Amino acid sequence: MAKKETVYIALGSNLGDRAEFLYRARQLLSEFITEMHCSRLYQTPPWGVLEQPLFLNQVLRGDTTLPPLKLLDSLKNIEKHLGRKTTLRFGPRVIDLDILLYGERVIRSARLQVPHPRMFERAFVMLPLAELSPDLIIPGSGKSVNQVLSSLDTTGISLFPSS
Ligand code: ADP
Ligand code: MG
Repeated sequence: MAKKETVYIALGSNLGDRAEFLYRARQLLSEFITEMHCSRLYQTPPWGVLEQPLFLNQVLRGDTTLPPLKLLDSLKNIEKHLGRKTTLRFGPRVIDLDILLYGERVIRSARLQVPHPRMFERAFVMLPLAELSPDLIIPGSGKSVNQVLSSLDTTGISLFPSS
């Protein structure tokens, strides 16, 4: 039997019924990710391309037997299935699925970089990640999730729906 590894995936949406797209993505992910634990949803200002709707972001942790590039292919298939068009880098999208962490691995290939290189500067990733695994040491960095989060500006990020 293939080895199970724990993975962390970031979900984002800023077009259409954003919460519904996240829900449908989680359902599709559950076909190859087990023991899924999900953060709450966060509404966050856009990053990079600023003139676009607010994002909903979420992080989930689970186990998979898919190797890294197969997992990436599966995420890209879900993005396509949910109707994501090829768009601007950092631009608006119905769904974005990124691999944040894959077990203890550090991967630096053309198609896949893990830990996700931009997670360290993104409060909208680190905040939901800290909900799941605050003390996790991010492979290759020597820093815990909470340590990275404490250096980031979380202004403008709120729970969704707000209570
Ligand atoms: P972005 O998420 O940066 O806005 P895309 O979702 O269009 O952009 O992804 C662009 C490419 O990033 C993907 O085709 C994929 O090959 C590459 N990539 C590199 N590392 C990762 C990762 N950890 N998770 C997801 N995609 C990644
Ligand atoms: Mg992406």
